[in-house]
Amino acid sequence: MSEPLRMCCVCRQKKPKNELIRLTMSEGSLHINNDKQKYFGRSAYICKNESCINASVKKRSLNRAFKREIPQETYDELTKFI
Ligand SMILES: [Zn+2]
Repeated sequence: MSEPLRMCCVCRQKKPKNELIRLTMSEGSLHINNDKQKYFGRSAYICKNESCINASVKKRSLNRAFKREIPQETYDELTKFI
């Protein structure tokens, strides 16, 4: 059985979920998902690597992915995954 692939919103490569950080817009705020807590809503994925995380912060990729202004704190939170 093949693992479902998700696309990174920065580099556009498709990867297995365990190589990605999942972000979900739920009830007006953006959640960086972990396995303990599940959120439902529009999701985007970013590779769990320095280059994609840094690029997403620099290009504000999440603003585009979610079509809204994403607060700096969310980007700060993302860089903790590096
Ligand atoms: Zn990527």
